[in-house]
Amino acid sequence: MILVTRSSMPSMDEYIEEIKSLWETHWLTNMGVKHQELEKNLTEYLKVPELVLFVNGHSALECILEAMSFPAGAEVITTPFSFASTTHAIVRKGLNPVFCDIDPHTYTMDPDKIEQLITPRTCAILPVHVYGNMCDVQAIQKIADHHGLKVIYDAAHAFGVTKDGVGVGNFGDASMFSFHATKVYNTIEGGAIAFKDSSLRTVLNHWKNFGICNPEEVKYVGGNSKMNEFCAAMGLCNLRHVDEEIEKRRHVYEAYQRNLQGVEGITLCQAQAGVVSNYAYYPVVFDESKFGCTRDDVFDALAQEGIGARKYFYPLINDFECYRDQYSSADTPVAKWVADRVLTLPMYADLPEEEVNHICSIILQCRKEK
Ligand SMILES: *Cc1c(COP(=O)(O)O)cnc(C)c1O
Repeated sequence: MILVTRSSMPSMDEYIEEIKSLWETHWLTNMGVKHQELEKNLTEYLKVPELVLFVNGHSALECILEAMSFPAGAEVITTPFSFASTTHAIVRKGLNPVFCDIDPHTYTMDPDKIEQLITPRTCAILPVHVYGNMCDVQAIQKIADHHGLKVIYDAAHAFGVTKDGVGVGNFGDASMFSFHATKVYNTIEGGAIAFKDSSLRTVLNHWKNFGICNPEEVKYVGGNSKMNEFCAAMGLCNLRHVDEEIEKRRHVYEAYQRNLQGVEGITLCQAQAGVVSNYAYYPVVFDESKFGCTRDDVFDALAQEGIGARKYFYPLINDFECYRDQYSSADTPVAKWVADRVLTLPMYADLPEEEVNHICSIILQCRKEK
């Protein structure tokens, strides 16, 4: 049985060594020593000016939307080709998502389709660096500046990605990272907001702790989104090995490329100029008119052999039961086309090359049988 991903973990000894001191201090959460150290180390690793840790990526996204204090009902332009979290955060904070279509090559928001969606109620753009592919950050910033909008990136897939040496978390006003167990880098559950404006640090720290500013002053109606010391300790350990993990992922990526590049009817992600990838996912788009069978046929053939590929992202967010009364995926035809044909193949650091070859032979076999 091969699953689509497998969480990175340090050796048990390394983790135990890291958490030992917690039995001396009995300080388990509320911005303890591990939390402070991880915040510092991640700020350096991600090459960002400021970073605040959270219990998970989703809460981090909700918190930055709260901290920006947009007027109730304001519109946020986002993409339907993402994980549920991106749109849910907008809606749960009392804002209105407006769906923009995606670019057919990077699957990120198509900047040429943003301006037609801007209204007097638009307050922000919330694009996603899908699969670690970098959005057209320059085009998006230009539009945002022209219309006075905030830009908040969902960088949950983009840990460690750089463009011309600049960390992905430097673009826009803020970027959300997720350190969920299934991501390239994990703290079991965890997340962060990277940002430029240093005055946001205090605000975010208050928002994530019930809006409490000091024991006798509560300024905001905040929730509880603090990362605990055990998760921070896991993060300290995993950060020591993440470069090695990404390097191993690159080998898996190359093995897939050797098997699938140039196959009629298969579209693979192209490397982006100046962008150093983290090889977070291996998405493949199957065009049934040329490949000879559908994405679902391939999915079923793999499942039959105990291989768990993932229809990611499918369905589109604007097709979710909770949104489809108000939105239509017909309005985002490129995203709809890709969502109906994409499959992410198993991808993790320790996936052996023989397994990659086996997975690819099932895929190619599937084509022959049709
Ligand atoms: C994982 C993910 C999130 C949510 O992060 P959590 O840490 O699981 O809360 C948000 N957006 C995208 C695109 C993700 O992949």
